[in-house]
Parts: sequence; structure tokens; C-alpha cells
Amino acid sequence: MNEGLGLTVDLSGQIALVTGASQGLGRTCAVELGRSGAIVICVARSAEKLAETVEEIQNAGGQAQAAPCDVGSRESVKSLFSDIEAKHGKLDIVVNNAGITRDTLLPRMSDDQWDDVIQTNLTSCFLFCREASKIMMSARYGRIINMASVSGLIGNPGQTNYSASKAGMIGLTRSLARELGKRKITINAVAPGFIESDMTRALGDDVLKEVKKRIPANRLGQAEDVAATVVFLASPGASYITGQVITVDGGMTA
Ligand code: NAP
Repeated sequence: MNEGLGLTVDLSGQIALVTGASQGLGRTCAVELGRSGAIVICVARSAEKLAETVEEIQNAGGQAQAAPCDVGSRESVKSLFSDIEAKHGKLDIVVNNAGITRDTLLPRMSDDQWDDVIQTNLTSCFLFCREASKIMMSARYGRIINMASVSGLIGNPGQTNYSASKAGMIGLTRSLARELGKRKITINAVAPGFIESDMTRALGDDVLKEVKKRIPANRLGQAEDVAATVVFLASPGASYITGQVITVDGGMTA
């Protein structure tokens, strides 16, 4: 049960994987899935920070393991999934959350800025969905949640690479939901607006002040606002929701 988020969700006995679990939204999602009873495989590159996430889950009475991996590397993702199959033999929940920004206006964007963002945000989502769906199809059960962004819905100047990667994740989500629906596997995208995090702090106070004026809720979101949506979508109660984009933005795109 997860009373912290005000949700009654029991994920006991389920194996969950969260990418980008070393900090920010991914870390909070991992902790809250752990609090809800799932055994959480925490993925990111920094082994040191992953150990902190695992400790936080264990301190809250949950179970977790660190699985350092570069999500954009085909070889690393393949070997991660071989380890998961050998150790757990199943995978119930996947949260594709790892993501980066390399913001600049398009005429100045380098090939590397484009390629890095597409590889880390979108190709990783393809790689994890492909491996996870094989396991979930034989189990005839699964929950995949892709962390998109309102930038993938309405765009944002300086973020053509990032917005394209997030819009790509949304297209992948909608198509895969149609492929996997019959097997009791749901796949949804969550599109956060501006959430208090390192990623948004980098925008600076002046920009954030202007941003707040565009948010009906009159505040930036908290990681817990996003985690509550993720935990709900991961729960058995969300079995009839698939192929959707759930916007968590305080009404900004309403
Ligand atoms: P963050 O604090 O920068 O965290 C990003 C996470 O991704 C870190 O755990 C990082 O871990 C991991 N990561 C980055 N590159 C990786 C790679 N190649 N392999 C494995 N892990 C990698 O970002 P955040 O603000 O929590 O955002 C999380 C997600 O939400 C992102 O997809 C972002 O686009 C999306 N989002 C955020 C906001 C917001 O307001 N914060 C709004 C909309 C959408 P390592 O560096 O240890 O690898």
C-alpha cells in the first residue's frame, strides 16, 4: 500500500524497472513503486547515486537493486535484460524515464546535440520496450510507462531535438498499445509540465517566474505529482487505460 501518495496500491510480488532512477523524477518514481511493494530495479549510469536510491527504498521498507547501465547502448540494454531474466524470470512494470536535454535554437544545433538526445530519450525507449514486451507477452501481463513531456505535445523553442524525442515516445506508445492490448499489457505516456528538478532549475529564476504565470495551478509540479500518476498507471486498477498521454502540468496545456 502507498499511503504517502494518498493511493492504495499493492504491487507486492511485482518486479518494476525504472530508468533514470539515480535522481529527480525517476528516483521518486522508484521510491514510490518500492513503497507500494514492488521490487525495483534501478537503472542509470551513476552506480554511486543508484546506491542512494536503493538505500532510500530499503529504508522505507521496500526491496530494490541497482543496475548501472547506459540506456542508449544496445549491448548494455541486452545484457541488463539477460540478467533480469536470469535473476527474476519476469518483469511486470517498466518506467522509461531516463532523459537529457541539449537545448539550443535549431540553426545552431550540432549533430551531436541532436543524436545524443534522440539516442538517450527515444532509442532507449525503443530498446527497453522491445526487450520488456518480449517478457511481458509470454507472461500476458505488463505495464509500460514512458516519461514524455508537454514539449512533445506543444513544442518549446530551443528544444526541437528534445520535443522530437518526446513526440517520438508518444507515437511509439500509441502504436505499441495497439500491438499489445490483447495480451493484457498496457503502455501509456506521462507528459509532465514544469516540475521542480535539476532540469528545470537550470532554466534560472527569471524564466521560472514567467513560466509560473502560465500555470493555472500557480506552482511548479513536484516529483511526487508525477510519481502518483506513474504508480496509478502501474497498478492493476489501470488495466483499461492504454495508449494514452496523461498530462501532469497543473493545467498549463488545458
Ligand atoms: P534529471 O534530474 O536530469 O535526471 C535524469 C536521469 O536520467 C538521471 O537519473 C540520469 O542518471 C539518467 N540518465 C541520463 N542519461 C542516461 C543514460 N545515457 N543512461 C542511463 N541513464 C541516464 O531529469 P528529471 O528532471 O528527473 O527528468 C526525468 C525525465 O522526465 C526525463 O525524461 C525528462 O525529459 C522528463 N521530464 C522532466 C520534466 C521536468 O520538469 N523535470 C518535465 C517534463 C519531462 P545518470 O546521469 O546517473 O545516468
